[in-house]
Amino acid sequence: LLQIKALHKHFGKVEVLKGVDLEVHEKEVVSIIGSSGSGKTTLLRCVNLMEEFDGGEVLLDGESIGYRLQGGRRHRLGDRELSRQRSMTGMVFQNFNLFPHLSAAGNVMLGLRKVKGLAKDEARSIAETWLKRVGLGERMDNYPSQLSGGQQQRVAIARALAMNPKLVLLDEITSALDPELVQEVLNTVKALAAEGATLLLVTHEMRFARDVSHRVVFMEKGLIAEQGPPSEIFGNPKSKRLAEFLGSAR
Ligand code: ATP
Repeated sequence: LLQIKALHKHFGKVEVLKGVDLEVHEKEVVSIIGSSGSGKTTLLRCVNLMEEFDGGEVLLDGESIGYRLQGGRRHRLGDRELSRQRSMTGMVFQNFNLFPHLSAAGNVMLGLRKVKGLAKDEARSIAETWLKRVGLGERMDNYPSQLSGGQQQRVAIARALAMNPKLVLLDEITSALDPELVQEVLNTVKALAAEGATLLLVTHEMRFARDVSHRVVFMEKGLIAEQGPPSEIFGNPKSKRLAEFLGSAR
């Protein structure tokens, strides 16, 4: 479903992604782990076109994302194309990014109305379905300030999934939560994974990565240093760096 080929990204003189190759298949759950600054978030942001990249290719469902290659040159796509491609992925952020002036239902409905152009009733009905699925059927009309961090994050997950994206990107979605609220969010993600959502996530929760992923990718200094099934990555790390990282993350 997703193919990332030789992805390069600089910020000024700093090369943050140094030629990343990664594939994610349909219905696969892939977790990216790695130390701070290794480029995990930047990689997700390139897939979702929140960052431009300098070289390489991102293909989603066979379609080149962000750029058109012509005669060996890359041309940035126009705004309309970019926004269509952006809606092929859903993204959930560390800090929820909910609109404070909209209710839970309003947050989920916004993209359905503005991007998908659905009528209000239809958007509300889809929002209701998704909020129920994340266990917030009773909270539809609450505003973010009336919800716990875990509940807000579940609204953000419902909002991403309601758009029916091909791929969902989850960027450290439990990092801003109090420890007692982490589990409810992780359980929600596990349920989505069990239902066959395709997920690419960045996490610092090693136990979660081990539990939920089909494959775990270890990033180190802008490259994928090692990848494999969780049993291998956590049970039998091949590189010294991964072993050290896992030691310090424990
Ligand atoms: P963390 O686990 O701490 O979130 P990460 O692996 O997700 O780290 P990134 O956030 O992708 O790492 O950052 C990779 C590098 O790129 C870091 O050195 C960071 O300082 C740098 N960086 C990220 N965004 C920008 C930016 N907008 N401008 C300049 N440098 C940036």
